[in-house]
Amino acid sequence: MKKINSLLIIGILITTILFGGWILSEGYQELSSNSVVAEEHPKQSVVKDFEEEKPEETDSEEDTEIKYPKYDSPSDEPSKEINYEDSKQEQENKQSNSDKKVFLTFDDGPTHLTPMVLDILKEYEVNATFFTIGKLMEKYPEYVGRAYDEGNMVLPHSYSHDFAIYSTLDTFYEDFYKAEDTYKEVLGFEAPPIFRFPGGSSNHSSFNFGGKQFMPKLTEDIKEKGYYYIDWNVDSGDTGPDYNNAEKLLENVLQGVVNTDYAIVLFHDLVKNEKILEILPEIIGTLQEQGYVFETFRDISQDELDKMVELKLANKPIVR
Ligand SMILES: [Zn+2]
Repeated sequence: MKKINSLLIIGILITTILFGGWILSEGYQELSSNSVVAEEHPKQSVVKDFEEEKPEETDSEEDTEIKYPKYDSPSDEPSKEINYEDSKQEQENKQSNSDKKVFLTFDDGPTHLTPMVLDILKEYEVNATFFTIGKLMEKYPEYVGRAYDEGNMVLPHSYSHDFAIYSTLDTFYEDFYKAEDTYKEVLGFEAPPIFRFPGGSSNHSSFNFGGKQFMPKLTEDIKEKGYYYIDWNVDSGDTGPDYNNAEKLLENVLQGVVNTDYAIVLFHDLVKNEKILEILPEIIGTLQEQGYVFETFRDISQDELDKMVELKLANKPIVR
């Protein structure tokens, strides 16, 4: 009996071990497949969530944050290697027979917006003229150096841009010659005798300083000295209430050039004017489609300057 009992027990044990082993192995497979699924799902959803959120984060960053190029290193010397002969050759190559001309002008810089304007001009292969403030040229010489190196023109606007310069002829010329001296120090050559008055030649800001007859007197005096002062006939409106409205700025420019074959467009490369970066490509494209050729005061010939005087875009007589 003991032998039979022992055999039974052994048989039961073997059966139990085999059956148990089968259950365990199936159970393990199920468990492991469950655990794979269970592990994969959370991973997938994390990746998915991340991928969905990522572009939104990038967009919102781009909307709110202006990425300034890193030109601020004090070791970045402004380029003094300006080859005037080469640029003259380029000017001759650029000569065009088109009668429709547009001069994009940017006043009151350089600022941190200037390199971003330069990037767009470079991308769309056009040039512009920058009427600069002397004290800002001292602060950001690399920006004006780059502007010139890339084929744009840089011209004086003022040293201080303080309207108190319009108090007397002496206060005006003190600031004006300082702007010319700074220009030479920064760019390495004399400023040509072409500039823009702060506020333009017929500004009213001078009324509070030298009075109503100050600009008529100053403009006559500076013409006799052989200078050309340049105004504009198309105002982007970027110093007015439209400065932050890209659509309105675009409309101001495109409406402004209608029926104008000789357009001098006024912009300001002030930091707050980032909206002009949005509209510049469309302005360039639209005006090119309309047959305008982009010129600068670097390309300008005496004939063109004479035509500007005739159109009262340069040396406009101020009568009050
Ligand atoms: Zn200005």
